[in-house]
Amino acid sequence: MIKFTVKTSNRTEMINITSQVQELLRDCQFTHGVVTVFVPHTTAAVTINENADPDVRRDMLMEINKIVPFEDGYHHYEGNSAAHIKASLMGNSEQIIVHNGQLQLGTWQGIYFCEFDGPRTRKVWVQCLGVIK
Ligand code: ZN
Repeated sequence: MIKFTVKTSNRTEMINITSQVQELLRDCQFTHGVVTVFVPHTTAAVTINENADPDVRRDMLMEINKIVPFEDGYHHYEGNSAAHIKASLMGNSEQIIVHNGQLQLGTWQGIYFCEFDGPRTRKVWVQCLGVIK
């Protein structure tokens, strides 16, 4: 397992981590198989979505913050229930096919770390399953 950290700077934020994951594959000479990107947090997540227009990320956060408002009479003592709910909606992991050492993502796809209770320093865990050169 390989680990790296992501520093977030806003309460909710989506950060493109595609290049970090791709670099890890190169560093460990992983060529064919699948890679799992896992976020070990209860108020952060990972998703795959559009990598071209940053307004897509802005719209996604705008809508998810409407669907799950920051304050809504939640009971959780930490006061961050909205972040827990958003993290579960987005999910904790993504699995991506790797071919010839390259992440097999669609032209417009990127891997995004999703912060829902920032700013914080967060962890991402990566596990490769398949052939190492
Ligand atoms: Zn909490």
